[in-house]
Amino acid sequence: MAVKTLDDLLAEGVSGRGVLVRSDLNVPLDDDGTITDPGRIRASVPTLKRLAEAGAKVVVTAHLGRPKSGPEPKFSLGPVAVALSEQLDRHVQLASDVVGTDALARAEGLTDGDVLLLENVRFDSRETSKDDGERLALAKQLVELVGDDGAFVSDGFGVVHRKQASVYDVATLLPHYAGTLVAAEVTVLRQLTGSEERPFAVVVGGSKVSDKLAVIESLAEKADSLLIGGGMCFTFLASQGASVGTSLLEEDMIDTCRKLLETYGDVIHVPVDIVVADEFKADATPEIVRADRIPDGKMGLDIGPGSVERFTNLLSNARTVFWNGPMGVFEFPAFAAGTKGVAEAIITATGKGAFSVVGGGDSAAAVRQLGLPEDGFSHISTGGGASLEYLEGKTLPGLAVLEE
Ligand code: ADP
Ligand code: MG
Repeated sequence: MAVKTLDDLLAEGVSGRGVLVRSDLNVPLDDDGTITDPGRIRASVPTLKRLAEAGAKVVVTAHLGRPKSGPEPKFSLGPVAVALSEQLDRHVQLASDVVGTDALARAEGLTDGDVLLLENVRFDSRETSKDDGERLALAKQLVELVGDDGAFVSDGFGVVHRKQASVYDVATLLPHYAGTLVAAEVTVLRQLTGSEERPFAVVVGGSKVSDKLAVIESLAEKADSLLIGGGMCFTFLASQGASVGTSLLEEDMIDTCRKLLETYGDVIHVPVDIVVADEFKADATPEIVRADRIPDGKMGLDIGPGSVERFTNLLSNARTVFWNGPMGVFEFPAFAAGTKGVAEAIITATGKGAFSVVGGGDSAAAVRQLGLPEDGFSHISTGGGASLEYLEGKTLPGLAVLEE
């Protein structure tokens, strides 16, 4: 694989050159626009810092959330520009548009080492268009901002599974390089898929089975144990004939879950007990029940202590671990114990020499929110969907284009 990296670009020389960087700055914000988890901003800093220090005129493009049609103030990158300035320790200007007059004027005014952040690239609907021509037209305008001898650095690992203008099409128009974050993520995922160190334990949770079925199917084949928790476990439990009350359930996935349990019965483990409540609320009263006896009207919001114990045992001698998806509604402290317990078991295994990777935005946020040490894991990926698709063995357009 002949992907050029940031080191190659720096060796070629960037002083005075315009460099377009696609970063992943898609951080969660609360209702007043405060960033609740700056992980992705922090992860984007190394590439930007090195380019700015080497004297490049850095133009950063990124998205935030899913604006529907055109600019929406609540999805402005304003708060991100402020946080990025602090982290980079240099002023980051924010253009008020994506490729409009403000972006053009600011790009033209850049001097060596300046950093310009363009407004949310998804404010321009061509970014995510299915029409190749529309995307290419936006890409050409982005490329204009960095001039004739410009370069493109792909550093938004969380979006490399998307065939979008700022991820894919720009790379077809400029000399292109993998940023340090993309390079590091790919190295880790390659190590994970290639690891011969067994036992290999996989922990999958989160809200929807349908999102994660492909990765469950592909990893059940390779793993020695696959532990299922989170909202998706109820579809598995229902496929065994259990009643699941008002818990999350994807009826149309029941058959598929049953077949998976039949094929990989000794690999897949479902919870033995569940923490239930009357409703989806932070102050709902928790109650522990057997996983096959969830009472009518009750909703499963976490895996129970017996399940944590069982999962902890299965993780205790693991040499390779991949975890995606919280075990429960960890955002509510009363339903966070399952996620915390499993995370602690993975940290213990890592301490004994296991290679552990956490993928998924909410899983990474859970680690930080529950006060667990981030360096307790070998690697925390910034890209949920991207890391899952990589592990499924899919071709990721934003990576494939860097090879050309
Ligand atoms: P990730 O981003 O790590 O891939 P997901 O996005 O798939 O994870 O799922 C995360 C969400 O799943 C969390 O917001 C969590 O509250 C929710 N969740 C976990 N368990 C349950 C449950 N039993 N019922 C409802 N939601 C759940
Ligand atoms: Mg998520």
